[in-house]
Amino acid sequence: MKILVINAGSSSLKYQLFDMETEKVLAKGGCERIGISGSLLKAKGNGAEKVYEQDMPNHKIAIKLVLDALLDGEIGVIKSMTEIDAVGHRVVASGEYFKKATLVTPDVMKTLEEKTFELGPLHNPAAATGVRACMEVMPGKPMVLVFDSSFHSTMPPKAFLYGIDYDDYKKYSVRKYGAHGTSHKYVSQEAAKFLGKKAEELKIVTCHLGNGSSITAVDGGKCIDTSMGFTPLAGVLMGTRSGDIDASAVEFLARKKGMSHADTVTYLNKKCGVAGVSGVSSDFRDLCAGAEAGNERCSLALDMFAYQTKKFVGAYAAAMGGLDCIVFTAGIGENTPTVRADVCHGLEFLGVRFDDKANEAKNDGSIRVLSTKDSKVAVLVIPTNEELVIARETAELL
Ligand code: AMP
Repeated sequence: MKILVINAGSSSLKYQLFDMETEKVLAKGGCERIGISGSLLKAKGNGAEKVYEQDMPNHKIAIKLVLDALLDGEIGVIKSMTEIDAVGHRVVASGEYFKKATLVTPDVMKTLEEKTFELGPLHNPAAATGVRACMEVMPGKPMVLVFDSSFHSTMPPKAFLYGIDYDDYKKYSVRKYGAHGTSHKYVSQEAAKFLGKKAEELKIVTCHLGNGSSITAVDGGKCIDTSMGFTPLAGVLMGTRSGDIDASAVEFLARKKGMSHADTVTYLNKKCGVAGVSGVSSDFRDLCAGAEAGNERCSLALDMFAYQTKKFVGAYAAAMGGLDCIVFTAGIGENTPTVRADVCHGLEFLGVRFDDKANEAKNDGSIRVLSTKDSKVAVLVIPTNEELVIARETAELL
């Protein structure tokens, strides 16, 4: 069975084609600058890479180009479109409407477009555009929506509710939904496999630390709490996002800076986080270089990030009543030893024994153990693979 995974953004579209018997990636690539001049597709297949510089006024043309690349005489990996069994689409926000991967029908598209756009205004419209474009170019092919937030649908009300009027929660569905669910699901399952245990036996804290960061408590294979909230603005401070902040401080800032509601949310999403604190960059490589060169605000941003992450680890150990494993994943989790060390040092009281030497070893893309042999808590680095989860869930649904 071959599954095509599509991750559509407003002006970009990434894809991977999986052979599900081996779970190998047959081809992958991405379209950039869709709807903008200078659009191009970078495609890999058959061990080669090709760049197509072609106008892509919309997502439909982009999907057509992707299919042409999959059929290309040189880098193509299929002979006919009939070899693709289904398409899995990444969707960020599900609201309370979708609790698991869902086969696309006209009703499903109606709910996606009419109910979820306001919950994921930056991402969901782009995903829906990608689905519609695929349906036009590949009529009759099964399409599956795989939601980032589905893995968090097992959170109990005491974890997902805000302390607001319950009637307002019911009326407006204002609650915690979480994000990066496919990543948290993947790395928690891989951790159980790696440790030779059943997911049901383990209490794991998964730290997805990238440009967007979230921490999740996975108890017995199920999410019981996560740091992101109604939107991906909540939790720890991130590249450019503020993370958790007192709502009164938000109103105060808006008044002082003369910002509208919408401008204030944009400010909190785009101008804050470690970029705002350091005044240097949202990229942790720049922050590490800055800190090394003596820039105190870079050091402060790094300290804040590790401190806030550590607090979630502790909180979630308490919420689960124990801790067997901490997993680090995503750009920072996989590549920034100083953050991992600052999160784990001081957690000896929870049974963490951190191996500083193992932590400094180069990222070779494999699962790595950062805890000592006598550590009660396993500390692992596991490269995430959200696309594979989407492909698996699409295949399972079929
Ligand atoms: P992501 O959103 O998962 O792509 O993660 C982006 C973040 O990961 C950025 O802050 C980068 O600085 C960091 N990152 C990615 N790759 C590396 C690397 N090779 N070394 C250090 N940091 C990295």
